[in-house]
Amino acid sequence: MLDQSVPAPKPKVIEGVTGPWEIVIGLEVHAQVATAAKLFSGASTAVGAEPNSQVSFIDAGMPGMLPVINEGCVAQAVRTGLGLRAQINLWSAFDRKNYFYPDLPQGYQISQLYHPLVGEGEVIVEMPGGTARRVRIERIHLEQDAGKSIHDMDPTMSFVDLNRTGVALMEIVSRPDIRGPEEAAAYVSKLRQIMRYLGTCDGDMQHGNLRADVNVSVCRPGAWERFMEGDASGLGTRCEIKNMNSLRFIQAAIDHEARRQIAILEDGGSVVQETRLYDPDRGETRSMRSKEEAHDYRYFPDPDLLPLEIEQAWVDDLAASLPELPDEKKARFIRDFGLSDYDASVLTADTSDAAFFEAVAQGRDGKMAANWVINDLFGRLKKEGHELSDSPVSPAQLGGIIDLIQSGDISGKIAKDLFEIVYTEGGEPAALVEGRGMRQVTDTGAIEKAVEEVIAANPAQVEKAKANPKLAGWFVGQVMKVTGGKANPAAVNALVNERLGL
Ligand code: ADP
Ligand code: MG
Repeated sequence: MLDQSVPAPKPKVIEGVTGPWEIVIGLEVHAQVATAAKLFSGASTAVGAEPNSQVSFIDAGMPGMLPVINEGCVAQAVRTGLGLRAQINLWSAFDRKNYFYPDLPQGYQISQLYHPLVGEGEVIVEMPGGTARRVRIERIHLEQDAGKSIHDMDPTMSFVDLNRTGVALMEIVSRPDIRGPEEAAAYVSKLRQIMRYLGTCDGDMQHGNLRADVNVSVCRPGAWERFMEGDASGLGTRCEIKNMNSLRFIQAAIDHEARRQIAILEDGGSVVQETRLYDPDRGETRSMRSKEEAHDYRYFPDPDLLPLEIEQAWVDDLAASLPELPDEKKARFIRDFGLSDYDASVLTADTSDAAFFEAVAQGRDGKMAANWVINDLFGRLKKEGHELSDSPVSPAQLGGIIDLIQSGDISGKIAKDLFEIVYTEGGEPAALVEGRGMRQVTDTGAIEKAVEEVIAANPAQVEKAKANPKLAGWFVGQVMKVTGGKANPAAVNALVNERLGL
């Protein structure tokens, strides 16, 4: 549950000519289930195969074929539901949604309209400024994906690839709780993050395995709060923008759509409920079909499939084997490693980042480890366009550098040089420090000698520093220079002060 002390972010307000407007958004996210085989057939779901090479008789809609549910897909949807703290329905059922399209050879999609596998849940969406929005989930149901029609390969013909036909999708339906374009994007990112932690969806939006239908309406301030108390009369009519597969486009489409609706309302018109498409090139939405043209899908229970009954004990087993989820991991990083909220968010963005950090931080200073991982390593990788999996520096190497700082063998400044060497040339940090004479000089004899030299060479500065002790820092800097940055700064400081009689 959302900690009630966390304030809700302010809704996005658009100033119209007749006063302020607010946006209300509900999302239907289609997430491709990460499994080896399709929802009702044994055909592979691997991407990149030869077109139409992963199509069983079921997927091809051959007469007389009977679908058989893939237990793995059900388990993934249940795990997703558990990750969203949702109600798991032990009894659910599949329905046929009838329509004709060349990429749907069966002539219907098997979905769950009346009795979904997963019921109400929630997602906590953190927003900037220490605020968070609780977005309620209405349901998650399992359904088949369609194939792909290809219209741009030939000027006179269209092609169809049925490899995706019958792949399992989870449709995750939110309540209209999202209050602005940024929140919508943050909600989709959070869903994706949770599913990636769970391993239930790859969340690769570019390749379409996570896509969203975005419902947008506008209302006057206060209407949404009254809706939350049971009076929906102040909410506006919504339009649905289909098939969005980019966080950036989702935001742009919502903003454009809200302004379009406001202009209609302020002009005395009314918003017509319809399905619209977003055109990223023109930055606008346009009508695809109105409510009157909406398909009549003639839903009915699929006679080829028995209702799906699962056992509580099976659900309990899945719950017991759930991995640590993003919110829990972040809270633990803050608690156990003393990280700031921001650092903990960065380091828990995905499980590989988190695992890398934990390996570095184990048994070391957590904040120091976070700084090195985020600023030095992630910063460098990002600048060079590399992924963490390509990192030339391992957790053991980065940990080794931190150990050398903590033991006083090297200064923070030398550590940066050492990091550079490890990053570009590789090597074991302690051995590099030995081999290249990078060890910090703590031997007071050597430091004293350098201090003497600097003082002897700069008599005028000595007089100034005696009159103004703040200038002693200049001598520390000079000594560090002379020693190539290897002198222990604390020892230098003490000796300079002593020698100047400060
Ligand atoms: P339907 O029954 O027509 O499918 P739902 O009530 O199930 O409609 O809602 C479909 C989606 O539209 C949900 O994600 C929901 O949150 C969203 N939605 C419903 N009403 C509004 C509204 N007034 N403004 C924006 N989104 C809405
Ligand atoms: Mg609905």
